[in-house]
Amino acid sequence: MRIILLGPPGSGKGTQGDLIEEKYGFPKISTGDLLRNAVRLGNDLGKKAQAGMNCGELVSDEIVLELLKERIFQKDCRRGYLLDGFPRNIPQAKYLEEIAVDASEIVLDIRLSNQTLITRLSARRICPHCGAIYNLLVKAPNKAGECDQCSEKINQREDDTTEVIKKRLLVYHEQTEPLVEHYQSKSVYRDINGEGKIEDVFAAVCSILDKEINKHQKFTTVS
Ligand code: AMP
Repeated sequence: MRIILLGPPGSGKGTQGDLIEEKYGFPKISTGDLLRNAVRLGNDLGKKAQAGMNCGELVSDEIVLELLKERIFQKDCRRGYLLDGFPRNIPQAKYLEEIAVDASEIVLDIRLSNQTLITRLSARRICPHCGAIYNLLVKAPNKAGECDQCSEKINQREDDTTEVIKKRLLVYHEQTEPLVEHYQSKSVYRDINGEGKIEDVFAAVCSILDKEINKHQKFTTVS
């Protein structure tokens, strides 16, 4: 089973992805995390990806696909996996369908207004050590500036500045939003109101996933 989290930057895909991973056991694969890791390691892919990431552009499909392919065929993804931030355009979606044809698929699109997204992203902080995500407005760490899980100093992502956020939202509307129609036409698309509290959004996510998993299990038992 493949779960795809669509939704603009700041819609809570990472947070909901962590909760889904914890409850259902599907590993969360964030292409943003894979790319940030490559940048940290300073390898060839990382060096090529960095410029685009810093100014809010998409990284080339070639680089992202190489990282993704390496990850989704690992053993822990055999039962299923969850994609956060992939696909980001139609060619990526088509590529995914080519390399992993038989997975049943569900697409959850977390929707929010641009203004809420800008406010949220400006308040987002992450832990560079363990990747935990915070938001100074709605999910602040217990001790100011410190990660609850590993006590590392949390910081703002380089691409969470106002200028870059605006660019990322533009890129989302131009390149990623066409995926809505693509997945609607495959009848795998579900939209979710992302304006509420984390737990309310997660309740909506679970209600969809429970039904889908149930359907999938019935299908695999019969066939
Ligand atoms: P994210 O953590 O998903 O917000 O991604 C951070 C940045 O990584 C994006 O603004 C892009 O520059 C890059 N990125 C992440 N996923 C992809 C993707 N599937 N295709 C191209 N670029 C990506």
